[in-house]
Amino acid sequence: MARVSPALNLFFLRYIGKFRIKHSAGHWTVHSHLPPLNHPAFGRFISRHLLERTAGPSHAQIGLTNACPQACAYCYNRERRGQTMDTETILRAVRELQELGVCWLGLTGGEPLLNPDIARIVASAADGCAVKLFTTGSTLTREKARELKQAGLFSVSVSLDHWRPEIHDRNRGLSGAFATALNAIRLFQETGGIQVGVSAVVSRDMIGAGQVEEFLEFLQGLGIDESWLCEPKPSVAAFSSAISKAGSISAATPGTRWSTSTPAARSAPACSRP
Ligand code: SF4
Repeated sequence: MARVSPALNLFFLRYIGKFRIKHSAGHWTVHSHLPPLNHPAFGRFISRHLLERTAGPSHAQIGLTNACPQACAYCYNRERRGQTMDTETILRAVRELQELGVCWLGLTGGEPLLNPDIARIVASAADGCAVKLFTTGSTLTREKARELKQAGLFSVSVSLDHWRPEIHDRNRGLSGAFATALNAIRLFQETGGIQVGVSAVVSRDMIGAGQVEEFLEFLQGLGIDESWLCEPKPSVAAFSSAISKAGSISAATPGTRWSTSTPAARSAPACSRP
C-alpha cells in the first residue's frame, strides 16, 4: 500500500475499517463483494486498481442462463431479450474480463445452477477472480455444492426474503421456494470452504411493520456469514407495473440500505441480485 496515494490509501483503509474482518472458509474476508485479503485476486485488485489505476472494471457479473423456476414479482430478468451465451462464449467473456482487470466475478441468471457447465465456468473464473454465486438454491445437490467448492467458488448468496415460508413462497411465485433456499444454505454450509450468505429483497410491508430487525435475527440464527438486504431494482421496463400488481410486494424507499446484524458484515451495500 506504500505506493498508493495517501488519499486513496486513507479512503480504502477507512472503508475496510467499517467492517469486521472475519477468518472464514480459509479466507480473511471483509465481505463477499471484495476478494478475501489473502486471495490472489485481492493482490490483483491492489496492483491493477489502486497502484496502476487501470481504467477497466474491478467487478463484473455474468448471467449464465435466463431460465429460472421461480417467478418473482420484482424479477429483473422478466423481459430480458437476447440470446443466452453458450459456454465457450461465457468462457471467452470471463477471460476478457480478467484481462481488463476484473478480480471479482458474480455468476447470476436466471438461476445459474441450471447451466450444466457452471463448475467449469467457476473453475475458469476462479483463476484470478474471487467468484460469487447468486442462487435461489433450485436443483442444488450435495454433489453439486462440492463440485463448485472444488472448482474454486469463494462465496454464495442464497435468495431469502422472509422468515415465514408462505410469504417467501408467495414473493417468489413458487411453493417450496423457502424450503429450497434453506436446504441450499445447509448444503453449502456442510460443504465447507465457501462463504455462505443470504440476499433478501425487503418489502415495504416488512419495513412498515418494523420487522426488519426480526428478520435479521432470523438470518443470524441460520449461522450464515453475512446478509445483504436490498430494495427491488428497476432493471426492466415492466418494473413499475409488476410492482403495482404485486400488492404487498412493494419497493422500499429508493436508495434505502439496511445494515445487517449478522457477525460478518455489520454494514453492507445492497446486493446485486434479488
Ligand atoms: S429468482 Fe431471480 S431470475 Fe428468478 S424469477 Fe426471481 S428475480 Fe427473476
